[in-house]
Amino acid sequence: MIRTRFAPSPTGYLHIGGARTALFSWAFARHHGGKFVLRIEDTDVARSTPEAVQAILDGMNWLGLDWDEGPFYQMQRMDRYKAVIQQMLEAGTAYYCYTTPEELEKTRERQRAMGLKPRYDGRWRPQPGKSLPTPPAGVQPVVRFCNPTEGVVAWDDLVKGRIEIANAELDDLIIARADGTPTYNFCVVVDDWDMAISHVIRGDDHVNNTPRQINILKALGATPPQYAHLSMILGDDGQKLSKRHGAVSVMQYDEDGYLPEAVLNYLARLGWSHGDEEVFTLAQFCEWFELDRITPSAAQFNTEKLNWLNAHYLRQLDNERLAALLAPRLAALGVTVSDAPALADVIALYKERVSTLNEFAEAAAMFYREPEPSAELLAQHITTESRPLIADFLAGAREVAWEAPAIGALIKATVTAHGLKMPKLAMPLRVLLTGQAHTPSVDAVVAVFPREVVVARLEKALA
Ligand code: GLU
Repeated sequence: MIRTRFAPSPTGYLHIGGARTALFSWAFARHHGGKFVLRIEDTDVARSTPEAVQAILDGMNWLGLDWDEGPFYQMQRMDRYKAVIQQMLEAGTAYYCYTTPEELEKTRERQRAMGLKPRYDGRWRPQPGKSLPTPPAGVQPVVRFCNPTEGVVAWDDLVKGRIEIANAELDDLIIARADGTPTYNFCVVVDDWDMAISHVIRGDDHVNNTPRQINILKALGATPPQYAHLSMILGDDGQKLSKRHGAVSVMQYDEDGYLPEAVLNYLARLGWSHGDEEVFTLAQFCEWFELDRITPSAAQFNTEKLNWLNAHYLRQLDNERLAALLAPRLAALGVTVSDAPALADVIALYKERVSTLNEFAEAAAMFYREPEPSAELLAQHITTESRPLIADFLAGAREVAWEAPAIGALIKATVTAHGLKMPKLAMPLRVLLTGQAHTPSVDAVVAVFPREVVVARLEKALA
């Protein structure tokens, strides 16, 4: 049975890298009809917050990544970790170490001075034939794992290929602190074991933890899971993705007007491919997703591509869902949507032209506000040359059939009668009706407004 997990530390929002890890773990489980577990790694008490837990759950829900088990919280599993530490002490795979932090630092200094890599000197490690010092009074010991001293620890990483580390390179890891609390790597090991995780898919910032985790799992008599370490995501500029690049929180994408289906499709292609397919549904992704199609090199974020995908998914939405998604954004802009013009008509005007919901809302808003063209636009477009055109158009507008083709024909006839070109009238109409110089095709824009509104605005402008 394939069992994967997503194990975020709740120290901040769900960021793009975390979301991709979650997506890949989720899709791998779904592809194989397995289970996907959510585990909150909240043992860093100083940095973990309930708000961050909520932000992660919100992000997962927004993306639609559902979990089969959990969320499990490591802080609620302390007794279990402590019990396993006890077992290991009894089995001799872990031992008490009374070296104080000061002594440790002294040893390190000495090692550095000798040009050696600083490491624990193994003073309290039990060895056949070696007698241990008497535990000093008043020192609370830490617990260390008896790391094998010989051979290599190796795994076939499903993304990076074979990785081998000499055990001599690895210290005896502290698995419980002096106050008895288990350390990070240890909790991960016990959880992956207890939760029967078959595939650990995570960021490659954890590659260094893997040999230690494998050694501990083996000492526990467990079969280590398979590992797939995902490469980093770089920003548009090739630098490590960070806040400098704008939105890195998944929910920020929601706020900025992106659709979850676009973000998911985008994340799916960050370091994974299926032929030349760029646009696919989540169901297709689950069907196609295999770890061997993940690229080991870093993936680069490309906002333009995300915008393109978002525009694509916006166009697929039916107008009703779009109206529902736009409503809160229009409200946030202080706009009350009335029936005139109908939101559906405004939506039709912009559906092919915008790439985010926010852009959409900004554009739609101008149809529900009194237009406030700048003095500059007015000076440029409402001139002694254009006024007679506007007046003639106004006369015709009182009678013309109120639909874009007829309105377009009226505009054309009006400019032609004056021996002028379309923009001479189209620009003033845009400016007077929307306050903006850039709008979709002018006949469509005029037709979206009720006739009375157009007549009133043009009358006012000519008065
Ligand atoms: N809690 C770790 C993190 O948020 C992930 C640990 C793991 O996947 O093994 O980076």
